[in-house]
Amino acid sequence: MKIISAEYIKSFTTVRNNDLPHLPAIAFSGRSNVGKSSLINHLLLRKKLVKTSGTPGKTQLINIFLINSSFYFVDLPGYGFANVPIRVKEQWKQMIEDFLQEWPNLRATVQLVDIRHRPSRLDLDFRDLIKQTKQSHITVANKSDKLNKKGISTQLKEIQKLLGLQKPPLLHSTLQKTGREELWTEINSYLKTDSC
Ligand code: GDP
Repeated sequence: MKIISAEYIKSFTTVRNNDLPHLPAIAFSGRSNVGKSSLINHLLLRKKLVKTSGTPGKTQLINIFLINSSFYFVDLPGYGFANVPIRVKEQWKQMIEDFLQEWPNLRATVQLVDIRHRPSRLDLDFRDLIKQTKQSHITVANKSDKLNKKGISTQLKEIQKLLGLQKPPLLHSTLQKTGREELWTEINSYLKTDSC
Protein backbone atom coordinates (compact mmCIF):
# COMPACT_ATOMS: atom_id res chain seq x y z
CA MET A 1 0.00 0.00 0.00
CA LYS A 2 1.45 3.32 -1.04
CA ILE A 3 0.60 5.96 1.53
CA ILE A 4 -0.06 9.19 -0.31
CA SER A 5 -1.75 10.99 2.54
CA ALA A 6 -2.62 10.31 6.17
CA GLU A 7 -4.32 12.94 8.27
CA TYR A 8 -6.04 13.21 11.59
CA ILE A 9 -9.70 14.09 11.09
CA LYS A 10 -11.45 14.20 14.45
CA SER A 11 -12.17 12.47 17.74
CA PHE A 12 -15.40 11.16 19.20
CA THR A 13 -16.54 10.18 22.63
CA THR A 14 -19.67 8.70 21.14
CA VAL A 15 -20.31 7.42 17.64
CA ARG A 16 -23.78 8.91 17.62
CA ASN A 17 -24.21 12.01 15.46
CA ASN A 18 -21.20 11.00 13.40
CA ASP A 19 -21.37 13.21 10.32
CA LEU A 20 -18.37 11.88 8.38
CA PRO A 21 -18.71 10.43 4.87
CA HIS A 22 -19.23 6.66 5.05
CA LEU A 23 -15.87 5.50 3.76
CA PRO A 24 -14.53 1.99 4.52
CA ALA A 25 -12.90 1.82 7.94
CA ILE A 26 -10.38 -0.37 9.74
CA ALA A 27 -10.29 -0.09 13.53
CA PHE A 28 -7.38 -0.80 15.89
CA SER A 29 -7.71 -1.93 19.47
CA GLY A 30 -5.61 -3.38 22.24
CA ARG A 31 -4.52 -3.12 25.80
CA SER A 32 -2.89 0.16 26.70
CA ASN A 33 0.84 0.01 26.06
CA VAL A 34 0.58 -2.92 23.64
CA GLY A 35 2.16 -0.71 20.96
CA LYS A 36 -0.99 0.27 19.04
CA SER A 37 0.00 3.87 18.28
CA SER A 38 3.47 2.77 17.18
CA LEU A 39 1.98 0.07 14.93
CA ILE A 40 -0.40 2.51 13.22
CA ASN A 41 2.46 4.95 12.64
CA HIS A 42 4.53 2.07 11.24
CA LEU A 43 1.75 1.05 8.86
CA LEU A 44 1.45 4.64 7.66
CA LEU A 45 5.20 5.30 7.65
CA ARG A 46 4.61 8.36 9.77
CA LYS A 47 6.67 9.05 12.86
CA LYS A 48 4.17 10.83 15.05
CA LEU A 49 0.75 10.94 13.39
CA VAL A 50 -0.70 8.91 16.24
CA LYS A 51 0.63 10.06 19.57
CA THR A 52 2.27 7.25 21.48
CA SER A 53 0.87 6.98 24.94
CA GLY A 54 3.36 6.84 27.78
CA THR A 55 0.71 8.44 29.95
CA PRO A 56 -1.81 6.07 31.46
CA GLY A 57 -5.31 7.40 31.75
CA LYS A 58 -5.29 9.70 28.73
CA THR A 59 -8.72 10.70 27.52
CA GLN A 60 -10.82 7.90 26.17
CA LEU A 61 -11.47 8.99 22.61
CA ILE A 62 -12.12 7.33 19.29
CA ASN A 63 -9.64 8.97 16.91
CA ILE A 64 -10.29 9.02 13.17
CA PHE A 65 -7.58 9.25 10.50
CA LEU A 66 -8.21 9.56 6.77
CA ILE A 67 -5.81 7.59 4.58
CA ASN A 68 -5.23 8.29 0.88
CA SER A 69 -8.50 10.27 0.92
CA SER A 70 -10.29 6.93 0.58
CA PHE A 71 -10.57 5.02 3.87
CA TYR A 72 -10.36 5.53 7.63
CA PHE A 73 -8.10 4.16 10.29
CA VAL A 74 -9.92 4.30 13.62
CA ASP A 75 -7.78 4.29 16.75
CA LEU A 76 -9.94 2.93 19.57
CA PRO A 77 -9.07 3.84 23.15
CA GLY A 78 -6.67 1.39 24.78
CA TYR A 79 -8.10 -0.76 27.52
CA GLY A 80 -6.79 -2.20 30.73
CA PHE A 81 -5.00 0.42 32.77
CA ALA A 82 -4.80 -0.70 36.36
CA ASN A 83 -6.63 1.39 38.94
CA VAL A 84 -9.27 2.64 36.54
CA PRO A 85 -12.65 2.95 38.25
CA ILE A 86 -15.33 0.44 37.23
CA ARG A 87 -17.43 3.34 35.93
CA VAL A 88 -14.72 4.26 33.40
CA LYS A 89 -14.33 0.62 32.34
CA GLU A 90 -18.08 0.37 31.78
CA GLN A 91 -18.03 3.58 29.74
CA TRP A 92 -15.23 2.17 27.60
CA LYS A 93 -17.15 -1.04 27.00
CA GLN A 94 -20.30 0.83 26.02
CA MET A 95 -18.42 3.17 23.71
CA ILE A 96 -16.71 0.27 21.92
CA GLU A 97 -19.89 -1.77 21.70
CA ASP A 98 -21.71 1.18 20.14
CA PHE A 99 -18.82 1.71 17.77
CA LEU A 100 -18.74 -1.91 16.60
CA GLN A 101 -22.49 -1.97 16.12
CA GLU A 102 -23.05 1.44 14.62
CA TRP A 103 -20.01 2.68 12.75
CA PRO A 104 -20.98 2.65 9.07
CA ASN A 105 -18.80 0.63 6.72
CA LEU A 106 -16.48 -0.86 9.35
CA ARG A 107 -14.62 -3.56 7.43
CA ALA A 108 -12.45 -5.13 10.14
CA THR A 109 -11.00 -4.57 13.59
CA VAL A 110 -7.34 -5.25 14.27
CA GLN A 111 -6.80 -6.51 17.80
CA LEU A 112 -3.25 -6.28 19.11
CA VAL A 113 -1.97 -8.52 21.85
CA ASP A 114 1.51 -8.60 23.39
CA ILE A 115 3.23 -11.76 22.17
CA ARG A 116 4.89 -12.28 25.55
CA HIS A 117 1.69 -12.67 27.52
CA ARG A 118 -1.35 -14.90 27.68
CA PRO A 119 -4.32 -12.89 26.44
CA SER A 120 -5.78 -11.12 29.45
CA ARG A 121 -9.39 -11.16 30.62
CA LEU A 122 -9.80 -7.82 28.82
CA ASP A 123 -8.37 -9.21 25.58
CA LEU A 124 -10.86 -12.07 25.81
CA ASP A 125 -13.71 -9.67 26.60
CA PHE A 126 -12.85 -7.60 23.56
CA ARG A 127 -12.73 -10.74 21.40
CA ASP A 128 -16.20 -11.64 22.72
CA LEU A 129 -17.50 -8.18 21.85
CA ILE A 130 -16.26 -8.63 18.29
CA LYS A 131 -17.92 -12.04 18.06
CA GLN A 132 -21.20 -10.70 19.43
CA THR A 133 -21.25 -7.86 16.94
CA LYS A 134 -20.19 -10.22 14.11
CA GLN A 135 -17.37 -7.96 12.99
CA SER A 136 -14.36 -9.18 11.03
CA HIS A 137 -11.26 -9.55 13.07
CA ILE A 138 -7.50 -9.45 12.45
CA THR A 139 -5.31 -10.47 15.38
CA VAL A 140 -1.73 -9.22 15.68
CA ALA A 141 0.84 -10.58 18.11
CA ASN A 142 2.93 -7.47 18.66
CA LYS A 143 6.47 -6.84 19.96
CA SER A 144 7.74 -10.05 18.35
CA ASP A 145 11.29 -8.72 18.81
CA LYS A 146 10.94 -9.57 22.50
CA LEU A 147 11.03 -13.36 21.97
CA ASN A 148 13.26 -15.85 20.20
CA LYS A 149 11.97 -18.16 17.46
CA LYS A 150 10.94 -20.93 19.82
CA GLY A 151 9.19 -18.51 22.16
CA ILE A 152 7.32 -16.95 19.24
CA SER A 153 6.11 -20.32 18.01
CA THR A 154 4.89 -21.36 21.49
CA GLN A 155 3.13 -18.06 22.11
CA LEU A 156 1.44 -17.97 18.69
CA LYS A 157 -0.14 -21.35 19.40
CA GLU A 158 -1.17 -20.30 22.90
CA ILE A 159 -2.73 -17.02 21.74
CA GLN A 160 -4.51 -18.75 18.87
CA LYS A 161 -5.96 -21.35 21.24
CA LEU A 162 -7.03 -18.95 23.97
CA LEU A 163 -8.63 -16.43 21.62
CA GLY A 164 -10.25 -19.23 19.59
CA LEU A 165 -8.75 -18.06 16.29
CA GLN A 166 -9.03 -20.02 13.05
CA LYS A 167 -5.46 -19.14 12.08
CA PRO A 168 -2.42 -17.95 14.05
CA PRO A 169 -2.10 -14.20 14.76
CA LEU A 170 0.06 -12.11 12.46
CA LEU A 171 3.47 -11.22 13.84
CA HIS A 172 4.54 -7.60 14.09
CA SER A 173 7.38 -5.55 15.53
CA THR A 174 7.72 -1.80 15.17
CA LEU A 175 11.20 -2.03 16.65
CA GLN A 176 12.42 -4.44 13.97
CA LYS A 177 10.10 -3.01 11.30
CA THR A 178 8.67 -6.45 10.54
CA GLY A 179 5.15 -7.66 9.77
CA ARG A 180 4.04 -4.46 8.00
CA GLU A 181 3.52 -5.98 4.54
CA GLU A 182 1.67 -9.01 5.90
CA LEU A 183 -0.69 -6.80 7.88
CA TRP A 184 -1.34 -4.52 4.91
CA THR A 185 -2.15 -7.58 2.76
CA GLU A 186 -4.76 -8.61 5.31
CA ILE A 187 -6.16 -5.08 5.70
CA ASN A 188 -6.35 -4.68 1.92
CA SER A 189 -8.36 -7.86 1.58
CA TYR A 190 -11.01 -6.28 3.85
CA LEU A 191 -10.86 -2.87 2.20
CA LYS A 192 -11.54 -4.51 -1.14
CA THR A 193 -14.62 -6.44 -0.06
CA ASP A 194 -17.89 -4.96 -1.21
CA SER A 195 -19.95 -6.53 1.51
CA CYS A 196 -19.92 -4.77 4.85
P1 GDP B 1 -0.14 2.12 22.92
O1 GDP B 1 -0.42 2.57 24.33
O2 GDP B 1 -0.73 0.77 22.67
O3 GDP B 1 -0.53 3.12 21.87
O4 GDP B 1 1.42 1.86 22.82
P2 GDP B 1 2.62 2.76 22.27
O5 GDP B 1 2.69 2.69 20.78
O6 GDP B 1 2.55 4.12 22.89
O7 GDP B 1 3.88 1.94 22.83
C1 GDP B 1 3.97 1.59 24.19
C2 GDP B 1 5.42 1.24 24.52
O8 GDP B 1 5.82 0.06 23.83
C3 GDP B 1 6.42 2.33 24.11
O9 GDP B 1 7.43 2.37 25.08
C4 GDP B 1 6.97 1.81 22.78
O10 GDP B 1 8.28 2.27 22.51
C5 GDP B 1 6.96 0.31 23.01
N1 GDP B 1 6.78 -0.45 21.75
C6 GDP B 1 5.88 -0.21 20.78
N2 GDP B 1 5.99 -1.12 19.77
C7 GDP B 1 7.02 -1.95 20.12
C8 GDP B 1 7.62 -3.08 19.49
O11 GDP B 1 7.26 -3.53 18.39
N3 GDP B 1 8.63 -3.71 20.19
C9 GDP B 1 9.05 -3.26 21.41
N4 GDP B 1 10.03 -3.93 22.00
N5 GDP B 1 8.50 -2.17 22.01
C10 GDP B 1 7.51 -1.52 21.38
